[in-house]
Amino acid sequence: MACYGSHRRIVEKSLGRKLKKGEVVHHRDHNPKNNEIRNLEVLTEKEHNILHFRGLNALYKFRKNKNE
Ligand SMILES: [Zn+2]
Repeated sequence: MACYGSHRRIVEKSLGRKLKKGEVVHHRDHNPKNNEIRNLEVLTEKEHNILHFRGLNALYKFRKNKNE
């Protein structure tokens, strides 16, 4: 998957903490060269897989169920 690499450091700086194991930085526009902070989103590996293979609606559903 394209969403791994040095942009993690950009996100870590913005969060003010290190990313945990299992956290993935996703590119909202699916362009791994666009490392602007508003294009980056931290997801768990599981959420990331859902987003890429099943889409954004499936991710929203997953998060909703998790919080109930
Ligand atoms: Zn991604």
